[in-house]
Amino acid sequence: MVKIVLNQDDCNGLEACGECIDTCPLEIFKPYGDKIVIEHPDECIICEACVDICPNQCISVKSD
Ligand code: SF4
Ligand code: SF4
Repeated sequence: MVKIVLNQDDCNGLEACGECIDTCPLEIFKPYGDKIVIEHPDECIICEACVDICPNQCISVKSD
């Protein structure tokens, strides 16, 4: 199964960035304090817009 993954260690956080939240057409990302969490992974259509917009390359598509 293919799914979207966020590496928290490399993320700039909501205050400094938040680009993934603004970019995702399906509102997969949600703020959690100053962090970003993947709230609805099953609804992701793997369009990779968030992968492309993230300045730190901390969002990726993984298959398991
Ligand atoms: S791949 Fe597309 S649908 Fe999935 S989280 Fe990223 S922007 Fe949203
Ligand atoms: S776009 Fe990347 S760096 Fe920016 S908030 Fe989202 S995951 Fe973090």
